[in-house]
Amino acid sequence: SVPVPVLTARGLSAGYGEGGPAVRDLDLDLCPGEIVTLLGPNGAGKTTTLLALSGALRPRTGVVRWAGRVTTAPLHQRARAGLALVPEDRSVIMELTVRENLRLGAADTDLALETFPELAGHLDRRAGLLSGGQQQMVALARALARRPAALLADELSLGLAPRIAERLLGVVRAAADGGLAVLLVEQHVRSALAVADRVIVLRHGQVAWSGPAEQARADPDVLVGAYLPLA
Ligand code: ATP
Repeated sequence: SVPVPVLTARGLSAGYGEGGPAVRDLDLDLCPGEIVTLLGPNGAGKTTTLLALSGALRPRTGVVRWAGRVTTAPLHQRARAGLALVPEDRSVIMELTVRENLRLGAADTDLALETFPELAGHLDRRAGLLSGGQQQMVALARALARRPAALLADELSLGLAPRIAERLLGVVRAAADGGLAVLLVEQHVRSALAVADRVIVLRHGQVAWSGPAEQARADPDVLVGAYLPLA
């Protein structure tokens, strides 16, 4: 059966202020059960793409569809409809406890702890006292515990030890295997490729390469040609 995308973009362009578009003419389909990874050098437009898809930034041109319907709704409305965004700053409130952070996101605490049992001993600690990896677990647990249909996540593994990054990406993979549609912005090419089904490489705000992750894993040179050294 042909997969039905939960989120699509056609001809999407977005940018800031008077500047030229940071993303230009982007087409994208995101289907239940798949992880699409957005790669690209700094400033390529990855974050801008996530913001425009989530309703946090109004596109200049193009169309975003959610569950088949054109949407211009702001982020909070899309969140209620099943779209989860984990932004680059994680949006964990450092002064609040882990439990309060989960509640604030209207997340089911039991479900969050099922996802990350390692948070159980920290529920009443202030988030600011946790490690970066634990904070990212709170952000991801909170997003997933609302049972979204799609997750857009910006650099989940930024600044984290490889073991922790793998743990987080493993949880995302498991959620996708359960039907979640996932768009991941990643800097770590290797770990991103390991969990992805499809890859889109952005460069100067445009798609430089896209294809199955398997192809990129088998022949990483296709990425180098499109984009940057793998180091
Ligand atoms: P990075 O990995 O550095 O976050 P990115 O691929 O996510 O890069 P974007 O953050 O989407 O890239 O940035 C794309 C372009 O838009 C860049 O030229 C950047 O300088 C510009 N830009 C990003 N945010 C803003 C903003 N708030 N105001 C003005 N310009 C911005």
